[in-house]
Amino acid sequence: SGERVAVVGAGPAGLVLAALLHRAGIDVEVWERRSRADVEQRPRAGLLEHRVVEFLAAHGLADRLLKEGERHGWCVFACLGERVRVDYGTLSGGFRHWVYPQHLLLRDLVEKLDEIGCPVHFDAPVQELDGTTLRLRQGAVRADFVAGCDGAQGVVAASVPDSLVTGRRYPYDWLTVLADMTGPVAGVLYAVHEAGFAGMMPRTGNVARLYLQVPAGADPADWPEDRVLAALDLRLAPGAGDPRPVRLRERGMLRMRGRVRRGLRAGGVFLAGDAAHVLTPSGAKGLNLAVADAADLAAGLIHRVRTGDDSLLAGYEARRGAGAWWAQDFSDRLLDLLHLPPGGPEERRFALRLRRERIRALARTGPYATAFARDYAGAESV
Ligand code: FAD
Repeated sequence: SGERVAVVGAGPAGLVLAALLHRAGIDVEVWERRSRADVEQRPRAGLLEHRVVEFLAAHGLADRLLKEGERHGWCVFACLGERVRVDYGTLSGGFRHWVYPQHLLLRDLVEKLDEIGCPVHFDAPVQELDGTTLRLRQGAVRADFVAGCDGAQGVVAASVPDSLVTGRRYPYDWLTVLADMTGPVAGVLYAVHEAGFAGMMPRTGNVARLYLQVPAGADPADWPEDRVLAALDLRLAPGAGDPRPVRLRERGMLRMRGRVRRGLRAGGVFLAGDAAHVLTPSGAKGLNLAVADAADLAAGLIHRVRTGDDSLLAGYEARRGAGAWWAQDFSDRLLDLLHLPPGGPEERRFALRLRRERIRALARTGPYATAFARDYAGAESV
């Protein structure tokens, strides 16, 4: 066909897109700002939805994940001294997550692209976009299509006009740490607490990702290690034998915001993943949505290059906008459950009791619990 696709960004969206296009015989290259080591070593997400793993597996992109990842089908909500286990794997009719760290998935994808001969250029920041021509330090790269998979602060999005952004800054932030624990963390724990939310998500071995609600705009310097440990201990309230953090590393402050962009296409330029929408980590949807975008964009581009027909690509924005709003809604409702509204002690006590009711309902067989379980695990196909 001779048509060339340039993918900007070697995150989950960019690498999955490149693998699918290259497999379909399309001339595609990836341009990534960071070094390969950096991409392969930066821990971020870790919960993969059922539908995403099905999709990756069907395209031969999940070999190691299927071997080394762990299935995960329940989570625990703690509220007012009560622990409620939500068996979403059962409630959803068998849909579960896979626990597999994002950087390991990226490592596997880069390896796969190497193997099939799809070029991935590291240390190659795209400085500017001129139509479908990339400007890099190394020179100009002309393409017929550009996929902006360059994340929340990408440069490709800046060149897409009509980029109306609808968003919300939440009135709190999440301090996040990777921690070595006294033992493996068996499942996700969400603690709704008077002092603020705290969460614990399994990673590999004895490592867990922990979250702590802090005031919006909080300065990390105000949260030294002993304060973080004390807050985690109070809010997560581990029982005897439960894993506790022993060493904190990779500390970060997540400025909590949700954002959806309109204008995912300008001519031959497309946006996918975090470049198109930003989600809070509450529902663990960001990585999953990025892969779903890549799958949709790949199908549209392959159809276009093979047949010259633009109709699939023409629906890209509407389909992915719907996917993004669905995920925003899920994440927003979960955030609402996990945080107390502002107010005095009386209001907070009332809000806590209401949340305990909702949490109990999530564990009780019925349409409410089933809907949550299916949405959480990502039951629908990509
Ligand atoms: P990214 O992964 O951000 O990739 C973009 C790439 O583009 C980067 O490699 C970047 O270096 C590159 N780039 C940027 N600018 C340029 C340029 N000018 N030129 C070339 N390259 C460029 N999601 C989940 O689904 N589940 C979770 O459990 C979860 N937990 C999270 C925990 C944390 C602490 C964080 C920070 C995020 C979490 N997320 C989670 C969100 C998830 O990590 C992102 O949604 C996901 O990485 C988005 O993928 P992407 O490919 O769109 O963008």
